[in-house]
Amino acid sequence: MKTVQKLTGLLLAALLLVSGSAVSAERIPVVASFSILADIVSNVGGERVAVSMLVGPDQDAHVFEPAPSDVKKIARAKLVVINGLGFEGWIERLANAAAYHGVIAVASDGIQPRQRPGHGNNAALRPDPHAWQDPVNVMTYTRNIVSALSRVDPAGSEIYKANGAKYLHQLAQLDDWAQAQFAQISGTQRTVITSHDAFEYFGAHYGVRFLAAQGVSTESEPSARDIAALIRQMKQQHVKALFFENMSNPQLLQQISNEVGVAPGGKLYADALSPPNGDAPTYLRMMRYNITQILARLRLN
Ligand SMILES: [Zn+2]
Repeated sequence: MKTVQKLTGLLLAALLLVSGSAVSAERIPVVASFSILADIVSNVGGERVAVSMLVGPDQDAHVFEPAPSDVKKIARAKLVVINGLGFEGWIERLANAAAYHGVIAVASDGIQPRQRPGHGNNAALRPDPHAWQDPVNVMTYTRNIVSALSRVDPAGSEIYKANGAKYLHQLAQLDDWAQAQFAQISGTQRTVITSHDAFEYFGAHYGVRFLAAQGVSTESEPSARDIAALIRQMKQQHVKALFFENMSNPQLLQQISNEVGVAPGGKLYADALSPPNGDAPTYLRMMRYNITQILARLRLN
């Protein structure tokens, strides 16, 4: 009797070990298209998911060229999450190359996109993809990610819902803080210059006017006339808030900075997070960092 009990105990222990390691080995492989999205997916997925990303920290999704390793990441994935709104023009080709037939969830689904004209010959309106720069939009991203993960992994749906609720609360706190900060800045001070049009959603939400040297994509080349107009406007309005971006070429902005005689106020994180040891390793920290930088400069305008 005793031996049997002992054996049963051992068996149970062995079974627990096996199932325990099986659970940790079977994290759901999820691919997020870029670093900001990967962070949001990690917050919702928690321990149940293994998130990898295509466009990494400080990298520019507008000019991304997938490598063979990216094809492998997609081929292994149970779920692919993209921003949508035309941000990942390369995703379909990549999914085909990987023979990926799983779900591609669009995080921005349900958001009313802002329309922006292109530059020069490409003046047709197109959706502005940078919806994540408004935390209220990221609440929609979060809900969409909760749904997508729950569809792929129904057993985890309660956990995703709970993680999502916690993250939504943090987003609301971020937004409350930001609103209170911007309320201290007068209307005439609220102009910021950046490299490309990544902050229109941010600007619309917080009442800040962003002027950019480039259009909504870092791919397009601004004309000399566009640049001259921007410089004239900056001089007339005495704009002091001028920022580099973490993933864009700084050359153009440096040129503008020299001409206007205003030193850039550091960099803003536009389309990518910083590496883990940088100033903006998560979405929440990125927003707080950007807002703090912007406010410091707007006070000088
Ligand atoms: Zn961009």
